Formats: sequence, C-alpha cells, structure tokens
Amino acid sequence: MSDTPNTNSQTAGAVDSPNAFEVTAQQITRAADCLKLSEDWRTCLVAPQRVILLEMPVVMDDGSLKMFKGYRVQHNNARGPYKGGLRYHPDVHLDEVKALSSWMTWKCAVLNVPFGGAKGGVQCDPAKLSRRELEQLTRRFTKELGDNIGPHIDIPAPDVNTNAQIMAWIYDTYSVHHHNDVAKGVVTGKPVELGGSLGRAAATGRGGFLVLKEALESGHIEGLSSLKGTKICVQGFGNVGSHFCKLAHDAGALITGIAQVEGGIVSSEGLDPYAVEAHIRATGQILDFKGAKNITNAELLLQPCDILVPAALENQINAQNAPKISARAMLELANGPTTPKADESFQQRGITVIPDILANAGGVTVSYFEWVQNFSHDIWSEEDVNRKLAFRMSESYAKVRETAAQYDTTLRNAAYIVAIERVVNAMKTRGFYPG
Ligand code: NAD
Repeated sequence: MSDTPNTNSQTAGAVDSPNAFEVTAQQITRAADCLKLSEDWRTCLVAPQRVILLEMPVVMDDGSLKMFKGYRVQHNNARGPYKGGLRYHPDVHLDEVKALSSWMTWKCAVLNVPFGGAKGGVQCDPAKLSRRELEQLTRRFTKELGDNIGPHIDIPAPDVNTNAQIMAWIYDTYSVHHHNDVAKGVVTGKPVELGGSLGRAAATGRGGFLVLKEALESGHIEGLSSLKGTKICVQGFGNVGSHFCKLAHDAGALITGIAQVEGGIVSSEGLDPYAVEAHIRATGQILDFKGAKNITNAELLLQPCDILVPAALENQINAQNAPKISARAMLELANGPTTPKADESFQQRGITVIPDILANAGGVTVSYFEWVQNFSHDIWSEEDVNRKLAFRMSESYAKVRETAAQYDTTLRNAAYIVAIERVVNAMKTRGFYPG
C-alpha cells in the first residue's frame, strides 16, 4: 500500500471520502477565521512539527523477512510533551497519522490536559500476525523511535488494534534501551500491574457517556431529556464502543444496534452489551446474536434511533449517508468519523454533533492521570479517577457550549476555537527559538 493520501478501504467507492489531513486544515481555518488569526498562524497550526517514517524488517514465524511501514507524527508540543495513540491497521498512511496527531493537539487543549499532540501507526493487519510477530514488530518500532519518545518527550497509548499488552512491550523495550531505567511514564494505557491507571480501559467510552448524559439532562438535545429509553446505535464495538455501550445500557438507554467490521445486529427491544461481548468471545463475530437481526455495517448507520455513535474509523459518515441519517444527535467517539459535507448536512437539519475532540477525550484525560500517578509513584482508586474524569469532561463541555453561544457556531467549531486559543497563547508566550 502506498502513502497516497485519501480514504481507508472501508469507504471504498464512496465519493465523499476526504483526505483526513486536509479536513484538519479546514477545521483549523474555520476556527482561525473566528479568532481572526493571520495566514502565518494558520500555516503554523496545520503543519506537524516532526514526521518520522520507518521501514522495519521483521522475521516472520516461517523464517521469511517482511518489511513494515511505521509512522510517528509529532504535531505540536507547545503545551506539554507530545501525546497520542498508536494504530495498527492495513490502511494506515502518512496523511491519516498526520490528521490524527493534529486532532490530539486540539483534544488535549480542549480538555486543558498539559500535553501536545502526536500519533503513530504501523501498516499491518494484526489479525494475520502471531503473538510473537506482533511483539517483534512492536519492539522493533520502539527501538527505531529511539529518543523521539520518552516520558517527557512523546508518550504513546493504545488506539485501533493496539492494547495494554502492546504498551507493556513498548515500556519494556524503551526501559531496556535506556540503561534499565524503569520509565513507566513512556506509555499510558499499560496493564494495571505495570503502572496502568484504574479506569483507563473504559475512559474513552466513559468520557463520551458523561458528555452525552450531561447534554441530554441539560435539555441540549431537542426532544430528549435523559438516557432512559433513549435509542442508541453504535458503530464499532472495540475498546471505546463496548465500554460506552455498557455504561449507556446500565443507565437505562436502549442499545438498538451495534456494528463491527464484519457487519451489525439490531433489535428494537435493545441489545445487552454484556451478552453481545460474551457472544463475540464465543463465536469470534458479532453476527447471529440470539434475538437480533443481522444487518450490514452501512445499514447500521441508517437505522432509526435517537443517538448515533460512530466508534470505528474516519469518514464513515459522509455526504452519501448523512442525509438519510435520522438520529437527533451524534456522539463522535471515533476520530474524524464525519466528513465536512456530512457535518454541513447535520447543521442544516439541526442535528447536534458532539465533536470527537471533546467526546472521545476521556481516554487522553485518564492517560494524563496515569502519567501523573507514575511520576508520583501513587495509585489512585478507580472511584477517584472516574470522579476527576467527570469533573474535567463537564468543565470542558461547559466551556465549549459557552464558546458556541458566544460565536453563534457549532460545538465542533467552538471546540476548535477553545483549543486553538490555548495553543496559540502557549506558543506566543514561549516565543520562537532562536527568537
Ligand atoms: P479497537 O481496535 O478496540 O476497535 C475498533 C472497532 O471498530 C472494532 O469493533 C472493529 O470491528 C470496528 N470497525 C473497524 N472498522 C469498521 C468498519 N468499517 N465498520 C464498523 N466497525 C468497524 O479501537 P478503539 O480503541 O475502540 O478505537 C475506535 C475509535 O476511537 C478510533 O477512531 C480511535 O482513534 C478512537 N479513539 C480511541 C481511543 C482509545 O482510548 N482507544 C481514544 C480516543 C479515540
């Protein structure tokens, strides 16, 4: 696969599948217009500060040698060390990683978490790699990144197809290569026994759940006032989607549809996410769940529901399907799930979009809590972590709402205004070396 920007293959054939990095430039430009920033500033905010490209040889189990492309993009560190997940996926390409790194900068700034933005990716299909191959690839990637990552420099975390075990291998490799320095803070999302934070695994789903609950209970979503009985469809039942589903279900919402890459299931009575999880564990797929009807992934997005929650990949909601979506609001747990054209369509139809850089920021917020615990050699209770997360999510949601009212704009543009203002202020105060 080349580095040519553009779509991921999940949306192949769709006309509206913009280059994610170009989307970030549009989002920055819109907010920069409101803040009356100069052209120079806009250029500076769009471009990543550093791009690392790697070609990594790995000896496969059958003795053959295979090359893998690896990326780490460090977008901006004005407010603190670079921070961002690591994605393993066959469609990973440079512009996608650049976009994801930019979104991390804005996400950390919206939440007022003292980190900058980065993202990493390895072009691979982890489902086709053995555990040994996955470990070799991860350790090689970490070694190649060398001093470009570190507890005060750049701190990776899990993203699509990466998990706590992969973070443990990065932590171990980094520590061994740094004179056995026990550098726990080099990654977050670690296993709890290695210094991971309680509550981190569920944090992204929980953060989205908290914002949605607040939006509903404050009457910000027309016609709805609580999660009880609210019908929700969720695309993606991985780390983020599954935790969100469980929390929403426990709060009385009806999860009427869930899709994974292989397809989806629907039930107007509501699906029990715990039972769906057990079914996936037992059968290896979401399809054929007892009492539910199988549908395609594309059909899931068009199901009648109150809230649609994309929790998979970019560009899933586009000019083609957006006009047919009947939900009253969207909670973007995935990064970049909605194209600008789809966004426009929602705005015209008065559909509220709670944007990714706010809705899915619970993960990086608890990553920050993990990092703080690692440096202070402390272990917080899960209750403490969840309480602090709830406070941050609520504070940030209020700030974004207030800014949206002030500028008479969407929640997405308001979130960018808040974030860009904070990053620009940090950059201005630091000044530009050598000045
Ligand atoms: P994951 O690998 O745990 O799960 C991904 C899920 O998406 C799986 O259920 C997979 O089957 C599904 N999927 C993939 N392609 C799909 C498609 N075309 N249609 C439907 N489903 C599809 O990943 P995750 O960590 O849950 O991340 C999901 C999204 O949330 C990504 O956009 C990621 O960048 C974002 N995100 C993750 C975190 C985090 O803490 N993990 C934080 C912020 C944002």
